[in-house]
Amino acid sequence: MSWTPAFLQKHNDLMYLSGMEREQSYIFLNVPFADKDAAKRAGAFWDMEGRGWRISTETPRAKFERWLPRMFQPDARPPYIVSEMVPAPCWGVNLRSLLPAEVWEALRRECSQQAGHRCQVCGGRGPDWPVECNEQWQYLEDPATPGIGVQKLLRLAALCPTCHTIKHLGKAQIDGRYKQALEQLCYVNGWSFEQTDEHAEQAFDTWERRSGMEWHFDLGALVGMGIDKIVLRASPGLPPIAGVDVVLVPDLSLAFGFATGALPF
Ligand SMILES: [Zn+2]
Repeated sequence: MSWTPAFLQKHNDLMYLSGMEREQSYIFLNVPFADKDAAKRAGAFWDMEGRGWRISTETPRAKFERWLPRMFQPDARPPYIVSEMVPAPCWGVNLRSLLPAEVWEALRRECSQQAGHRCQVCGGRGPDWPVECNEQWQYLEDPATPGIGVQKLLRLAALCPTCHTIKHLGKAQIDGRYKQALEQLCYVNGWSFEQTDEHAEQAFDTWERRSGMEWHFDLGALVGMGIDKIVLRASPGLPPIAGVDVVLVPDLSLAFGFATGALPF
């Protein structure tokens, strides 16, 4: 595989054609619907074609700070996005699987709406659907308990489909989207290809090491999303889950304590 600048340039040209806003004339903002009047007053423009609020890259950004995607925030420093793959033993434990479909759907929709249906990292959106909801986990390892870690839910984030591929590099390889993921890492973080390649290698090494560990789960962040209880089918393989009240029943039930609320970002 040859990752020459000419190769990347060629591929980036293809990405321009596919509608990604790489030319950087504009910055698309994360403006939730409730903020639309405030964004307009501040001087943002509604882009019909892009279906989002935008400012020019030349516009002073102070007034728009709360709506700026991560890579455009004045105080943020790269990396703005990293690849951190879910260890293999944790694959079955995700909100999409643990929560009833309608509850996950409500969270996913809220996440997208809070971000103005634009990527919270780059401001982009996908050609077929705007953003995808990524569960962001923190992997806590304690030297006192080697081989056992805690996968802690931090938040949900709205990512454009391209930024989302970065989060699941292994899947991106299978889906034929690996190059696209690496190029997005270069673009968003302003990295050279060498830096990006090194990061990807480290991400796979970390994934392999963590996949050999036993994981417990902390879903306490769900409480901030209005969910303080989850009801799970009792099963001998169920990993320990903390942070919310876990009720085990013989069959999966829909008895949830759920209320919509603002998501922590
Ligand atoms: Zn993005």
